[in-house]
Amino acid sequence: MQFSEFGQRLTAASGIVSLMDDLGCALRENPNMLFLGGGNPARIDVVERHLTQAMQAVLARGDDLHQMFGVYQSPAGDAAFRQDLAEHLNREFHWRLNAGNIALANGSQSAFFTLFNLLAGRQGSGQNRKIQLPLVPEYLGYSELGLTTDFFHANRPAIERLSEHEFKYHLDLTSFAVEPDTAALCVSRPTNPTGNVITDAEMAELDRAACEAGVPLIVDGAYGLPFPSIVFTQASCRWNENTVLVLSLSKLGFPGARTAIVIASEELIDAFAKANTVMSLAAGNVGPAVAHELLRREQLLSLGRLTIAPFYLERCQQAVRVLNRALGHLPYRLHKPEGAIFLWLWFEGLPISSQALYQRLKARGVLVIAGEHFFPGLAEPWQHRYECIRLSYAQPAQVVEQAARIIADEVTQIYERQ
Ligand code: PLP
Repeated sequence: MQFSEFGQRLTAASGIVSLMDDLGCALRENPNMLFLGGGNPARIDVVERHLTQAMQAVLARGDDLHQMFGVYQSPAGDAAFRQDLAEHLNREFHWRLNAGNIALANGSQSAFFTLFNLLAGRQGSGQNRKIQLPLVPEYLGYSELGLTTDFFHANRPAIERLSEHEFKYHLDLTSFAVEPDTAALCVSRPTNPTGNVITDAEMAELDRAACEAGVPLIVDGAYGLPFPSIVFTQASCRWNENTVLVLSLSKLGFPGARTAIVIASEELIDAFAKANTVMSLAAGNVGPAVAHELLRREQLLSLGRLTIAPFYLERCQQAVRVLNRALGHLPYRLHKPEGAIFLWLWFEGLPISSQALYQRLKARGVLVIAGEHFFPGLAEPWQHRYECIRLSYAQPAQVVEQAARIIADEVTQIYERQ
């Protein structure tokens, strides 16, 4: 079959699709794989109980049931939910939102596709504008979203070495500048893959730079604030008319609902809703209906703060302990885990690429993700890119423990044979 350029881009062998395929195949071939590769949230009993109760409450009300399954919502999504959410966030953060600042979408992955292409790509003037990622490594799911080629700018971060085995990425203030052809800045906070939480001061700098350049600052809050709030460090939740805050129900424990919430200026929300209508006709109703019920029960924000964040913090601390014990003799560093559900492991001077390490670990029954894929748009060579892997700690502690022993053994052999 002959595919268009669009078709070829979306099916390209190097993209996220083939990475996910490879993970899927590995799991099919060996269901006992120690799976530290995915972004699936953990099963948390208390969360499942609250989601079930919220769903049951919606189902029990005939009108709500009809609204959930029997109607197409308006282009921006259920107006009552958007209005209640706006009021709730205003009370919580002293923002000035109304329903017109909020649109719903079918998952944040597709919301990013719409947002990125609304802003970047070929302009009416013929100029090409790009999404700038001020701090790579960044979410690999962005990499294939552009409808045009050469879609991203990326900036290397500064590396702060916190201790012998810990480091943290920062916005590199010595070199960061908004590029003349930048259409928007975008950061995930906490960052997938590193667990970095960009500091409030760095966010203020990004906001200042974006406003000065007249481009929006997109903040991907898939793991962050105000929900699901998987943040282990002090961080404030900010929004202004120049900020596009993209939230998702997925890491709240609801990835199957495919629901995203975009908070932005009314002008951008209007454009987003129109584009979303062209592509999806309407956003799904199930996720918003359950989220609305959680909001009525004052649980939408508290579930993350009181249950989900402490759950992952405990898993994270266990995983760090286990890795420090297993890897102690190796030249490794962990990114300071400040949020999300991942650890980012850096083997300085690793003699093989992270992709080759991924393959070797896969052969031994451990699935991780090779770090080199998390640098969309980074044109300059950087060895560091090939020295890191991402591990999820959503799995039970014993899985991480077994995996850590195998990783330590394999990496020891690799260093010894160089
Ligand atoms: N952004 C980040 C940083 C992610 O890690 C993910 C998924 O893992 C997404 C966005 C997309 O999530 P969803 O489409 O489930 O909302």
